[in-house]
Amino acid sequence: MTFSQLGLSPKVLAAVETSGYTEPTPIQAAAIPHVLQGKDVLGIAQTGTGKTASFTLPMLTLLEQGRARARMPRTLILEPTRELAAQVEESFGKYGQNHKLSMALLIGGVSFGDQDAKLTRGVDVLIATPGRLLDHFERGRLLLTGIEILVIDEADRMLDMGFIPDIERICKLIPPSRQTLFFSATMPPEIQRLTKQFLRDPVRIEV
Ligand code: AMP
Repeated sequence: MTFSQLGLSPKVLAAVETSGYTEPTPIQAAAIPHVLQGKDVLGIAQTGTGKTASFTLPMLTLLEQGRARARMPRTLILEPTRELAAQVEESFGKYGQNHKLSMALLIGGVSFGDQDAKLTRGVDVLIATPGRLLDHFERGRLLLTGIEILVIDEADRMLDMGFIPDIERICKLIPPSRQTLFFSATMPPEIQRLTKQFLRDPVRIEV
């Protein structure tokens, strides 16, 4: 299996080559074609499996299609911690090096100023922790009605950290027509319940 067989765009393939990856990991090979087809995905995978690229690479390809409504973010990636959110932003920047996309990292512990300024200029991609995202929403700085793809990453850690009510609120702010990609290392009953609530006819991938 090679990356070029997965249906990714030339711009994305060029960035993958620059990253030095020679072949897709199992979760990448399994997930990428389904994400490109617009399917919801339930990925049961730990970090270290190449999970981040399994959603960012096809998302970048999909973002090349269609156009943003003025200043509206098109994709939202939710992470349980600031550190994970910052890592995903770095990966998105690396894999999106040939794309002219603007990103905002919305995490706590830093002032609102820079994040507000970015949101005002308009961004394509939001990478956020749930609490700070809702803070921006409550301050009236953010509309999520243009979100086409939602990623809920590390769902079991979200559960451990008490973020599920926040995620439920966030999901209600996003149009139900969205595509949802949901990742968890484990599948306790509470997480299974959430997959039924958030995902539509998902493809289940376990690595
Ligand atoms: P992740 O599971 O997304 O945290 O990725 C774990 C590590 O694997 C990261 O350092 C990636 O840069 C690296 N990686 C992701 N995909 C591949 C690949 N196809 N080949 C080699 N390394 C990869």
